[in-house]
Amino acid sequence: MAEDTGRIVRKIEELSEGQEINLMHLCGTHEDTISKYNLRSILPPNVKLLSGPGCPVCIIPDTDLQEVFHLLENRDVILTTFGDMARVPFEDRSLFYYRSKGKDVRIVYSVFDAVEIAKREDKDVVFFGIGFETTMPSIAVAIKDSPENFYVYSAHRFFIPAIEALVSEDMKIDGFINPGHVSTIVGVKAYERYRKYGIPMAIAGFEPQDVLLAVYMLVRAVKENDGGIFNEYTRAVKYEGNVKAQEVMNEVFYSRDGEWRGLGTIPETGVGIRNDFEEKDAEKVFEDVFENFAPKEDKRKKHCRCGEVLKGLITPKDCRLFMTACTPRNPIGPCMVSFEGTCNIWAKYSIS
Ligand code: SF4
Repeated sequence: MAEDTGRIVRKIEELSEGQEINLMHLCGTHEDTISKYNLRSILPPNVKLLSGPGCPVCIIPDTDLQEVFHLLENRDVILTTFGDMARVPFEDRSLFYYRSKGKDVRIVYSVFDAVEIAKREDKDVVFFGIGFETTMPSIAVAIKDSPENFYVYSAHRFFIPAIEALVSEDMKIDGFINPGHVSTIVGVKAYERYRKYGIPMAIAGFEPQDVLLAVYMLVRAVKENDGGIFNEYTRAVKYEGNVKAQEVMNEVFYSRDGEWRGLGTIPETGVGIRNDFEEKDAEKVFEDVFENFAPKEDKRKKHCRCGEVLKGLITPKDCRLFMTACTPRNPIGPCMVSFEGTCNIWAKYSIS
């Protein structure tokens, strides 16, 4: 194994020949692999691995979070969500804060736990749904088959169209390491729309050798001026992807503009619930609550540079709050809250 790793790294060194090559990964789990195995330290210094907006908790803007807080303040519902999301602060509040004040906030491991709660309880149960194409098919199944008192507040985002914002940003990215999990659903074909930019992409698995092989594929492609789409993760990702999952996702959800922390509004990335399922759509069912909602700025986050971390413009170390005022125990921004956030991962592996 170590011999293979050494061979791949030597090949990368030979091919890159001192040329500055910036590669961006698009998945928190890839950042975890890169940081855990310290892959940046074994690559030649001219080949840089940038961290992109691949953390679904991190990219949710404060507006969504505040809307959910607003719902809790105005309706007696059971609010269900994933643990990471419940810790994201806005000013001095989070969903855990609301729970400590007596609101019924419950942490679930899957949307189906939330459906089970709705079956047991008489109260309305709202699932605060986050995540990309990886999680959306299961949410769609839950929407199709759940009791009357179950609703979804959809803060999901379509990831694939978001890459458009990265390729058209004024950033020098020579290649992308595409997310393995999302790709199992959308398939290689979803990236065809990006061939026109001539920037190579490689779908990668999550072992260190997977990531290094993807880097090798991209460095070779840069060298050969080949803006192709490569699939290192063939053991899980097919060209067509998971067609059944795509069908159920498209049956229930539609795309609209979506706001991303750090990236602003990106067309086609927001995820709405289709009219056929509007009785499950918390935005419509609790429309009267959201009508009088006005988002605010979180002054506490004034110095948080999570948005720049998500665009790969800086590393966590460039934020002066990293491991001083902002720590995993006392996070200021979502990049430090989520297990998939780059700041959290760098803190976990003591990268300084
Ligand atoms: Fe924001 Fe904290 Fe990361 Fe700084 S270290 S960018 S404050 S999450």
